[in-house]
Amino acid sequence: MSDTTSITIARGDGIGPEIMDATLRVLKAAGARLEYEEIEIGEKQYLAGQSSGISPEDWKTLLKNRIFLKAPITTPLGGGYKSLNVTVRKSLRLFSNVRPCRAYAPYVNTNFPNIDMVIIRENEEDLYAGIEHQQTDKVVQSLKLVSRPGCEAICRYAMEYARAYGRKKVTCLTKSNIMKHTDGLFQRVFEQISQEPQYADIHTEHRIIDIGAALVAAHPEDLDVIVTLNLYGDIVSDIAALVAGSVGLAGSANIGFDAAMFEAVHGSAPDIAGQDIANPSGLINAATMMLVHLDQGDIATKIGNAWLKTLEDGIHTGDIYKESISKQKVGTKGFADAVIERLGQVPSSFPPASFKNQGIHITLPEHPPRTKKLVGVDVFIDWDENDRDPDVIGDRLAKVDGDGLRLKLITNRGVKVYPEGLADIFCTDHWRCRFVATAESGVCTHSQISSLMLRVANAGFDFIKTEHLYTFDDERAYSLAQGE
Ligand code: NAD
Repeated sequence: MSDTTSITIARGDGIGPEIMDATLRVLKAAGARLEYEEIEIGEKQYLAGQSSGISPEDWKTLLKNRIFLKAPITTPLGGGYKSLNVTVRKSLRLFSNVRPCRAYAPYVNTNFPNIDMVIIRENEEDLYAGIEHQQTDKVVQSLKLVSRPGCEAICRYAMEYARAYGRKKVTCLTKSNIMKHTDGLFQRVFEQISQEPQYADIHTEHRIIDIGAALVAAHPEDLDVIVTLNLYGDIVSDIAALVAGSVGLAGSANIGFDAAMFEAVHGSAPDIAGQDIANPSGLINAATMMLVHLDQGDIATKIGNAWLKTLEDGIHTGDIYKESISKQKVGTKGFADAVIERLGQVPSSFPPASFKNQGIHITLPEHPPRTKKLVGVDVFIDWDENDRDPDVIGDRLAKVDGDGLRLKLITNRGVKVYPEGLADIFCTDHWRCRFVATAESGVCTHSQISSLMLRVANAGFDFIKTEHLYTFDDERAYSLAQGE
């Protein structure tokens, strides 16, 4: 049976075609066991009316091969265009964004020559669901969605990655001290998974994101693998790229259960397109990550070493060329030629690359369902009368109590303002009114909530939305208000 893998490639826009040609030449010369199916994505497709930047036929190719080597694309200016990357990530369920972040001193300037970290960012959830609403004249909201399977996938992937690549430490970054249910879930899942015996050799730690981000900026050499939620990962990977100085050379991977996409970190650089001056390293490094994922560690090692040797031999494209250290300035094609000439050689100043067949495939455990009980409801109300006096809204709302539910408290911007709220709290027009079950069992019904809503409306209130309060296996599954 052939061990050749059929992958989808796209040349993209701007410098995309040049760096893709260079990368494909290197892959071919190194003997990568790949077959290619090419699709067209990006600006042309957007301007031809494909709102996601890809045609339905090309989409089928992507779904069939499920491995995608992608050059950067240009998103046309103006509204209405959907991000192709987001569409691909969501459709192929690419839950993990993997960004190795290394220093290549002295060839690339950095204050931290020993940086060698990998940022593993959850790719599908968190605030990136983009579910936002204006609820009152003064208040908007964005929903932060975090799922247990989402946390399990990314945390397990990070631990497996550390194991496969011989990494020593995994640092989990969250804001679980404030967001106890969303970030708290991420931290709990990380801690559970990291206790499994197969990970006994890997040191694990959790840090709050603010100090974690500061550490990435100030002591990046102390970090190894970082695993975190989508938004923090977005920010931290840019900090890491900046301190390492090597964003122009970096590749990244988006990995799913049975699909993956590999690309350079940089964009389509339209300012230098078509001039044979772009550095193809980002896409070459992305292709190397792809080969490792496809269990072609031998070819990945060959390319990784030839690339490092080219760098240390001083064969540089204009973006990293320095009179003091570079030996020869080359263009995109010349750089690819230099890498090809060095296939089979190893670097002498950098530690040589050594990739095994490190494709990581994870499965998620099934959990027994937990018992869910409805114990109350938060009713959100738009109210902007009587100088926004909490006692006025509170006393009026307390009158709709009854039929198994009573008003427990009201908060404004998360702070308790009724009953007995702090004096002089600044209030907006957005009130969260918590009603709890009065039955001895502690539970209430949906129809009791429906009739409560009717009473709230009949009392003249504009209710914006409700959030039900649940327990799972008798554990409270909603946050308490500040001061509750
Ligand atoms: P960019 O990364 O394309 O360019 C920033 C600067 O870096 C430019 O001066 C460019 O010339 C230089 N540069 C980038 N890659 C280089 C390379 N390989 N060799 C030498 N120099 C290089 O970022 P931008 O200018 O903000 O974005 C340009 C376009 O790329 C935009 O349309 C943006 O939406 C798109 N973009 C696409 C992706 C992607 O497809 N994954 C990612 C980022 C940006």
